[in-house]
Amino acid sequence: MRDAFLSFSPPLIGDDEISEVLDTLRSDWITTGPKVRRFEQEFAAFIGAPAAAAVSSATDAMLVGLAALGVGPGDEVITTPMTFCSTVHVIEHLNARPVLVDVAPDTLNIDPEQVARAITSRTRGIMPVHLYGHPCEMDALHDLANRHNLFILEDAAHALPARYKGRMIGMPRNPGAGNRGQLTAFSFYATKNLTTAEGGMLTGEPELIDRARIWSLHGMSRDAYKRYSAEGSWYYEVVLPGFKCNMTDIQAALGLQQLRKLPGFQARRRQIVRRYNEAFASCDALQTPVERPEVESAWHIYALRLNLERLTIDRARFIEELKARNIGVSVHFIPIHLHPYYRDKYEYKPDDFPVAYREYQRLISLPLNLRMNDGDVQDVIDAVLDIAERYRR
Ligand SMILES: *Cc1c(COP(=O)(O)O)cnc(C)c1O
Repeated sequence: MRDAFLSFSPPLIGDDEISEVLDTLRSDWITTGPKVRRFEQEFAAFIGAPAAAAVSSATDAMLVGLAALGVGPGDEVITTPMTFCSTVHVIEHLNARPVLVDVAPDTLNIDPEQVARAITSRTRGIMPVHLYGHPCEMDALHDLANRHNLFILEDAAHALPARYKGRMIGMPRNPGAGNRGQLTAFSFYATKNLTTAEGGMLTGEPELIDRARIWSLHGMSRDAYKRYSAEGSWYYEVVLPGFKCNMTDIQAALGLQQLRKLPGFQARRRQIVRRYNEAFASCDALQTPVERPEVESAWHIYALRLNLERLTIDRARFIEELKARNIGVSVHFIPIHLHPYYRDKYEYKPDDFPVAYREYQRLISLPLNLRMNDGDVQDVIDAVLDIAERYRR
């Protein structure tokens, strides 16, 4: 057994990131400035998006995205119970109503057929979540959006970089078609595939992105951040009751250097995933994650599923056994409808979303990060197989 605890998802910050941050700290500009603008441009180019707005988190990217799309009281937004709470919170923040629908059993992503059944005259949009980095069924969702005049705001917190049918997630498609607009939100939280400690990005068409950017900085009209610099002016106008969630140049400094390393990061993630899949394939107590043929997953999380009927222990005990072997693990996610706030407000029962509820009870996320060496990967494999063998039914 390993002596040191293996952290679930520590960040990998190198000397390049540290130097870039120091350069910012020694400059005259530490909040939203030239590095944020450069990070937005380089990120948009990497994704192939026409525009990007940097903000302080993916949560805020989704909040200002919904605001820019005009979501408000009485509106319904369809999303999934298999997500982090903030995907749903932002709908509540705008006094709209989140409508949850069940997920597909293989990917645990939102099921387009369930979405179709949930559409009403009050539905304004769909918020698909590319869970674990595996893209949702975007063709079917865009068909629904075009047919019912809905927006699509993608939670791509896990999906950097990911592809659906060769197309990068975050790259808007059929601009100007029947739908109400399309935006994609990315997260640069400490555990994500690219980190700025805290941070997020919204990509989409320039018109919507400009509007979202105004929402992100007090509702002040264009280039308010320039007003203290030589090219700026003292004059600005407040055109909306905006939020305050702009990104700082300190965060963008981290992001600029992390973005250069991202392709290498992803190659390593895939290598670890391949080793896990090979090691667990022959164990009938374990179910490895899928990658459908038409997608390229960002592999943010490796979500193993336990075949509980083959084991004498439950998921909680399996996690305790892993911890006892010094392996840090997690569960993604506790479905939204089980959390007291949403359960009580909308009177949800666990079985309202039977696939999400059933699969949740057998999920375990294993360490998948860039600080792991091959020995660490082997330690995880050995621990999982040892537990599966010892408690086999
Ligand atoms: C991390 C995460 C978020 C929130 O991202 P922040 O940048 O921390 O706001 C939203 N949705 C999902 C699915 C996430 O994993």
